[in-house]
Amino acid sequence: MEKKSIFGNEIFEYTGAIHIHSKYSWDSKVELSKIVKDAKNCQLDFITINDHHTCEAKVEISEQKYDGLYIVVGYEMNDAQRNNHYLIFNFDEILPTSLSAEEYVKKVSAGNGIGFIAHPIEKRRCKRLRDYQWENWNITEFDGIEIWNFLSEWTDSLSIPFNYFAKIISPNSSIKGPYKDTLKTWDNFNLKGFRKSAIGSTDAHGRSFFTPLANKKLFKTIRTNIFLREKLSEKNSDQQILSALKNGSSYIANYHRGNPENFSCYIYSKQSKNFALLGEEIKLSEKELFLSVKLPQKNMIKIIFNGEIILSEISDTISIPISKSGFYRIEVYKGKFGWIYSNPIYVK
Ligand SMILES: [Zn+2]
Ligand SMILES: [Zn+2]
Repeated sequence: MEKKSIFGNEIFEYTGAIHIHSKYSWDSKVELSKIVKDAKNCQLDFITINDHHTCEAKVEISEQKYDGLYIVVGYEMNDAQRNNHYLIFNFDEILPTSLSAEEYVKKVSAGNGIGFIAHPIEKRRCKRLRDYQWENWNITEFDGIEIWNFLSEWTDSLSIPFNYFAKIISPNSSIKGPYKDTLKTWDNFNLKGFRKSAIGSTDAHGRSFFTPLANKKLFKTIRTNIFLREKLSEKNSDQQILSALKNGSSYIANYHRGNPENFSCYIYSKQSKNFALLGEEIKLSEKELFLSVKLPQKNMIKIIFNGEIILSEISDTISIPISKSGFYRIEVYKGKFGWIYSNPIYVK
């Protein structure tokens, strides 16, 4: 946990690895105790376990105490064709794969569950490797989109057998950022007024033939960090983490490209002294609004307003006046590699 002073207020930032598979998934053999050990060694504050079609990890977790690491257990759903992967939280019923994506998204939403569309767009270079796409963008009842998934982007980059071993030796060379069409799809939902959040994940399965990437390396790559106005409480941490992810009080960073220490992004009103963090809303009527971005060092910052880039600048500090209502988010690049992707701040 990192304490940050934002516009004179104490804010708590927690760093998390999302979408991890354990031995309870059919395609992973990793013990929960090993996941916890690696997560702690990588200084993670929270993790989410999303095994395929099971929440069995919950039982094991409830029997132990994991000091200093918050663990949220959900599951990953897919349909009978193994497409339309969906990360489900706060919803204990394991739904049958006979349901369509539309049916399970609606059921989760109606049951107060929280759901994120997982690796929605995959672009396999190697046609022998199958992809797992999101097929129905008419569905609107989901909470957010996993815009960046390490395993998915890495698998897309494989050209078996030619680069397989090179990609195992340096997997990070494949990880460049969310696809433009994924970002566009996400922006389009927010343009329609839906307020969908974004998350970034590892989709870690532990080392096996198909996924030869060790968790202790993956946990130092794509993370989703949440900003909270109050510390996580032992009793209510699941709900605090999940509502931050659902509301987009968070940003995604690839730690392999650098630790986003001291990063902040918010909109404040000089007149009312009010401020909005990522995922929050501020009113134009509060007057003299400014968007502030701070980075630990100079990098390419892009400010995106209603899905369009309005500023690209190499800097470590940006403060620009805001005069239009809509949604503002930022992207930060290190050369050709994407580093930070924030959730939007909404100006009404
Ligand atoms: Zn999946
Ligand atoms: Zn997965």
